[in-house]
Amino acid sequence: MGNLVFHVEHFLMYDYPKRYDVVIVGAGHAGTEAALSAARLGCSTALLTQNLDTIGQMSCNPAIGGLAKGHMVREIDALGGQMGLNTDATAIQFRMLNATKGPSVRAPRAQADKKAYQLRMKWILESTPNLDLHQGNVSRLLVNNDQTTGIETNLGMRMLAPKVIITTGTFMRGLLHVGLQNQAGGRMGDSPSSLSDHLKELGFSVERFKTGTPCRLHGKSINLKVCDIQSGDEPTPKFSYMAHTIGEDSNEIFTLNPWSSDTFHVEQVPCWITYTNEQTHDIIRDNLNKSPMYSGKIESVGPRYCPSIEDKVVRFANKDRHQLFLEPEGRQTHEFYVNGVSTSLPYEVQLAFMRSVKGLENAMILRPGYAVEYDYCPPTQLHPTLETKLIGGLYFAGQINGTSGYEEAAGQGLLAGINAALAVREEPAFILGRDQAYLGVMIDDLVSKGVTEPYRMFTSRAEHRLLLRQDNADLRLTDDAASKVSGLIDANRLQTVQKKRNQLNKLMTVADKARHDGVPLRKWFRRPENKYAHLPQDLRKQFPEQIWDLAQIDLKYDGYLTRQRDMIARTQKMEHLPLPADLDYTQVNGLKREAQLRLHEIQPRTLGQAGRISGVNPADLSIIAIWMERSRHKAERTEQSS
Ligand SMILES: Cc1cc2nc3c(=O)[nH]c(=O)nc-3n(C[C@H](O)[C@H](O)[C@H](O)COP(=O)(O)OP(=O)(O)OC[C@H]3O[C@@H](n4cnc5c(N)ncnc54)[C@H](O)[C@@H]3O)c2cc1C
Repeated sequence: MGNLVFHVEHFLMYDYPKRYDVVIVGAGHAGTEAALSAARLGCSTALLTQNLDTIGQMSCNPAIGGLAKGHMVREIDALGGQMGLNTDATAIQFRMLNATKGPSVRAPRAQADKKAYQLRMKWILESTPNLDLHQGNVSRLLVNNDQTTGIETNLGMRMLAPKVIITTGTFMRGLLHVGLQNQAGGRMGDSPSSLSDHLKELGFSVERFKTGTPCRLHGKSINLKVCDIQSGDEPTPKFSYMAHTIGEDSNEIFTLNPWSSDTFHVEQVPCWITYTNEQTHDIIRDNLNKSPMYSGKIESVGPRYCPSIEDKVVRFANKDRHQLFLEPEGRQTHEFYVNGVSTSLPYEVQLAFMRSVKGLENAMILRPGYAVEYDYCPPTQLHPTLETKLIGGLYFAGQINGTSGYEEAAGQGLLAGINAALAVREEPAFILGRDQAYLGVMIDDLVSKGVTEPYRMFTSRAEHRLLLRQDNADLRLTDDAASKVSGLIDANRLQTVQKKRNQLNKLMTVADKARHDGVPLRKWFRRPENKYAHLPQDLRKQFPEQIWDLAQIDLKYDGYLTRQRDMIARTQKMEHLPLPADLDYTQVNGLKREAQLRLHEIQPRTLGQAGRISGVNPADLSIIAIWMERSRHKAERTEQSS
């Protein structure tokens, strides 16, 4: 009987007639960027996803950016990705967070029109050469001699490709909880994926995390008159260095914010603020036994920095109120996202505690909040290219790697797409350093240290954050990437960054020559109270505001920046000292057993990466460096004597 089923299954198997270079599984934030970058690099690419109508869907908050995340969106943009442009084209409110604080922590954030974002992203994907979209649920990978050769869907279709990128988000064995009720699902309204069972069969380690989302309310049931308004910033901050190209194509019907007459046109929509109170907290406390987070029903780890309202009420018991942001989900909908009350309490409890909040007395819940548990694959199973160590040609990107957030996912997708395409072209991998980009910090953290909770980017994770600012991502990355990865950066973007660099250099020359208040401009800028806005008009109008902004930061923080650059230069040698992939650490005399095991597991590519693995200390690094040096001498002597 078993044989019969086997034959029937295989008889029904259908081979899709086109062979691709790269197949991407899942069209969330990682999948879309992966598909676009692979296609841009000339690879014939297929993007396969469960539902083509949920491309680029924001499962939780319809907002992009924020601290460190905004930096990453600008880096994605600087590398030719879509997230920044798509947000600029479809957002309904833009702000620059920490605008009055130090330059390294300023970050753009936008409230997106959820549907316009998705529809425009779908249209971009459909319009991209070399890229085909397919609806399908991938259930297995095709593997031959530890190399992937394609995928199989649950409808019996096989699609062949030497590179496969999996970006399945929260969908693998997803389990949704509202109170003590639960149901299988990738997110509310979407079916789960069983792919992780197959990944386990292939030998991958699979673990479990959880996250949650708040309820959505009908805007007409909210009394906004008693809430505080939070408006967008004017002039409108943007994500993309190429925002001036938005709306150039007259077919862009989902673009809400076109650029015309040198101006970015955005009709900003406000968000609103209200607060929980003691009554809200009492309702939540009285019902904690119905929350799966507290009843012990959900045991997996969730994001500490994004606690549920149950968590907040218990952990911060002395706080008499918590802030809630009422955020519109779009221009053409009355749906509001209630930022700050992620919950898995039962529906009736959600309704009761929501209605205890000022302005929400008559609130109507459109969708309840819920928690989701899902499978992820610990990212120490990956090379820095995001290719798995176990199966060649197979890449993982996004929440499957234990991260949380659209921006983290998009950044990984972009880099996985680039590296898969480079591997198809048999060209060297593209790996960003920790001193080059937040994206480099994230990938190095993931593959070297792994994760113990959903990984989110923070500015504090970057040791060189004054260099990695949101205003200079293009100067840090664009032309360097263009020189290393042909086809990644289009000519228009390259010209734009080169023009910016030339203008900045010119301004720096002016800063050396021109004087103000009796001192050279370079020196004048060092006084904290001096700003370019105080300079005479005839000097200021020689350069655009954004160039003055950049120069002002570079000049004011010159001392710190020079010290950071010196430090990077000093550690370069060790950072980039390559370690052979097949190095047998048990042969390296003097290494602790724990260090040997961790090094064997991670297989670091450089001595710098080895130093960031937990369990490996500076003494171990010296031992490896000396061992490498001795091995090199030994090899040279053998060569000379033969
Ligand atoms: C309830 C909930 C709450 C969240 N809360 C937060 C939060 O507070 N903060 C935060 O930063 N992030 C939060 N997130 C996470 C955020 O949604 C993700 O980090 C982000 O969307 C991950 O992007 P991704 O591309 O990896 O996956 P997703 O955006 O989830 O996309 C996965 C894609 O893969 C497709 N797919 C899955 N399996 C298959 C298959 N077998 N075959 C074909 N297609 C498949 C899906 O249809 C989907 O298109 C939350 C997510 C959920 C569901």
